[in-house]
Amino acid sequence: LNGTRKIVIIGCSTAGTMAAIQARKTDRNAEIWIISREKYPEYSLCGLPYVVSGIIKDFKSLIVHPIDFYEKTLRVNLMLNTEALSINTSEKSVLVKDLITGEEKKLKYDSLVLATGAKPASLPIKGIYKQGVFSIRTISDVESLLLHLKNLSSKLIVIVGAGLIGMEMAESLSIKGYEVLIVEILQEILPAMLDPDMASIVHKKAEEKGIKILTGTSLEEIIGDEKVEAVMIKGKKIPTETVIVAARVNPEVELAKKAGISIGEMGGIKVNEYLQTSIENIYAAGDCIETFDLISKKSFPIQLATTAARQGIIAGANAAGDLKKYPGSTGVATTKLFGLEIATAGITSSLATKLGIKSTSIRTTALTKAHYYPEAKPITTKLIADIKSKRIIGAQFIGEEGASLRANLVALAIRANIELSELELLETCYAPPVSPLWDPLSIAAQALSKKLSSMIE
Ligand SMILES: Cc1cc2nc3c(=O)[nH]c(=O)nc-3n(C[C@H](O)[C@H](O)[C@H](O)COP(=O)(O)OP(=O)(O)OC[C@H]3O[C@@H](n4cnc5c(N)ncnc54)[C@H](O)[C@@H]3O)c2cc1C
Repeated sequence: LNGTRKIVIIGCSTAGTMAAIQARKTDRNAEIWIISREKYPEYSLCGLPYVVSGIIKDFKSLIVHPIDFYEKTLRVNLMLNTEALSINTSEKSVLVKDLITGEEKKLKYDSLVLATGAKPASLPIKGIYKQGVFSIRTISDVESLLLHLKNLSSKLIVIVGAGLIGMEMAESLSIKGYEVLIVEILQEILPAMLDPDMASIVHKKAEEKGIKILTGTSLEEIIGDEKVEAVMIKGKKIPTETVIVAARVNPEVELAKKAGISIGEMGGIKVNEYLQTSIENIYAAGDCIETFDLISKKSFPIQLATTAARQGIIAGANAAGDLKKYPGSTGVATTKLFGLEIATAGITSSLATKLGIKSTSIRTTALTKAHYYPEAKPITTKLIADIKSKRIIGAQFIGEEGASLRANLVALAIRANIELSELELLETCYAPPVSPLWDPLSIAAQALSKKLSSMIE
């Protein structure tokens, strides 16, 4: 490298900001640019549903670092309201456009980080472009939704997709007094996190709270002139003025594709263990890439802030001259819905079957504190093991408390590649008001171990 290293990062969300922080730590003198088409620097997308519910009072609270942090502490050139239009890989430059003035300019780079994230997929539903149809990805998406909600005559909101975002929005809107109908094409809610036997616990709770859920059903049409007036579901016309599409997000790869960077079979940017793309000096991180999954040993978009942040660190370090490896993901994820903490690590039984992994599982319910102690809460655990290797490949927890900390423990077990027998006897801390003598995770591991040995004999 001759002279000062020039690093350009496209995207200023979780992955982009972490990449900038790590690039600065790795190379104190580099010139760093971050390009973002947003008007704000990184903010928590994960917090958007809680602004809708009113638990978080404004969008500004979601901003992670003030602009000063980028400019003064990190000493990076933050270019907000700016779109990266194209990448010239032979010239090593990015053409950017100021979205306010329309001015275009070229930025030269020595290394480039693509942290372009993902965007809601446009579903093939008739009428999807009508006024009153929203997706939930950015602050402006939610600002438009909130504005729309101010002038409604129909209180019914239809949500397409019962994944994490669809369910979190359903709860937030019901807290605000709206009636919510969720339409999910698959057989059960939260399909990426939970198997149907576990998801049914949350499904039941949501219905008790007044949410209507139609699974195995798709939205046939959105009806209205310019604005949404009704939806067609199973041939029935249901009047509504609002449809929220929370079905699927696709990796944002147009820029990479145009630049000749390889895209994987699952639609994300292909990277190696250094998060380097098919073109030298171009790295990628976060929702735009296909992440290596530690269990299936396959790469697919994982699309969680958890992975985006860790990958941002690796990509930023390597763009600044380091050689760090991304170890792979354990897919650990959590949410809280209708008073239930829900957490998962690894893969579901359904995904294991799809991937051709022969697995077995056990479901147990145990208490989070000593059985005699007031306010001990039941927690349901599903533990999944690979029959051949006898190792844990997934876990799901649902309870009023303690789900996510146990999923984190399973993520560690997966990362450490420990056997089920080791998990069974794992020493977990115990005191009656805090946790039981045998942790619910140990109890599930013991039951699964017994099931596994009976299968082998
Ligand atoms: C409502 C909601 C709730 C969520 N809840 C959780 C949660 O609880 N836990 C969790 O782990 N994850 C959650 N997620 C997922 C998480 O937010 C994402 O995984 C994370 O934001 C990914 O970060 P990223 O930096 O890779 O991409 P993104 O956050 O998508 O950021 C990419 C940025 O790049 C910009 N960009 C793209 N192309 C260009 C271009 N050409 N020029 C300029 N800028 C460009 C985009 O505008 C965007 O600002 C949630 C997501 C949503 C929407």
